[in-house]
Amino acid sequence: MSSVPVAVVTGSNKGIGYAIVQALCKQFQGDVYLTARDPGRGQEAVTKLQGEGLRALFYQLDIDDLHSIRALRDFLKEKYGGLNVLVNNAGIAFKVHDTTPFAIQAEVTLKTNFFGTRNVCTELLPLMKPYGKVVNVSSMVSSSALRGCSQELQQKFRSDTITEDELVKLMTKFVEDVKKGVHEKEGWPNTAYGVSKIGVTVLSRIQARMLNEKRKGDHILLNACCPGWVRTDMAGPKATKSPEEGAETPVYLALLPSDADGPHGQFLSDKTVRTW
Ligand code: NAP
Repeated sequence: MSSVPVAVVTGSNKGIGYAIVQALCKQFQGDVYLTARDPGRGQEAVTKLQGEGLRALFYQLDIDDLHSIRALRDFLKEKYGGLNVLVNNAGIAFKVHDTTPFAIQAEVTLKTNFFGTRNVCTELLPLMKPYGKVVNVSSMVSSSALRGCSQELQQKFRSDTITEDELVKLMTKFVEDVKKGVHEKEGWPNTAYGVSKIGVTVLSRIQARMLNEKRKGDHILLNACCPGWVRTDMAGPKATKSPEEGAETPVYLALLPSDADGPHGQFLSDKTVRTW
């Protein structure tokens, strides 16, 4: 078994994920895994990094596919005996003018952004080594979507006692409410992406609390963050930040020094803790 530290970034064949891998290759003392759902696109990205003199390793990972997640889990367990850094970056967003029915957009968006990310956490968090770092890439849109929720939902999503099961039930209810055409009446905002990212931010708060309860002495730091508005295929060319700039906050959280006792369980943008 290798004693080399290991970092994994989901959805890193392009965009912000690629820039996070690029920065980790320069700054993280250990093996860095660029992962992608499509092996061709993943290998191509690894080759591109090689051209920049950077060495990333590749592993296939589709966060929508539990088999794929478990294969990575088993590989990490066997080869490294765990994991030091996990960046949950993979995500999707329908374009504003996409004509796909909203019920399908809600189902597909929640499937990857919330349920896929949660499945990765369920399988990989138990592998986190002491002093490990977990970064869940959410969005400022989670905050604006939260403000668009009913007072009752806002209270639930801000609660310090909400459980993962309760959160899963709420995310499932959103998709069902959209399908029934009652989501606005039920207090939800009109954004599937926003609700999926509320899920990611709240999940991070819950997971950080669980780490405090169950693995207090392990000093693992887990946070959610927004990369900013970044020029990628998702946000388009008018966005204000380059992918490298977008990677700054996730990389800062992934590389917090071992003597840091925070941030933990927070939502950050521009390396600053934001009020949830
Ligand atoms: P992007 O350029 O569209 O890249 C998204 C990445 O996620 C791609 O590598 C994509 O792979 C991958 N992905 C999607 N579904 C996946 C799945 N099921 N399994 C594994 N990988 C999957 O988007 P980005 O702008 O870099 O976004 C990265 C993260 O930042 C996302 O979570 C996004 O919500 C968040 N974010 C972005 C912005 C922004 O302004 N860009 C702002 C706030 C938050 P494929 O190439 O195979 O599709």
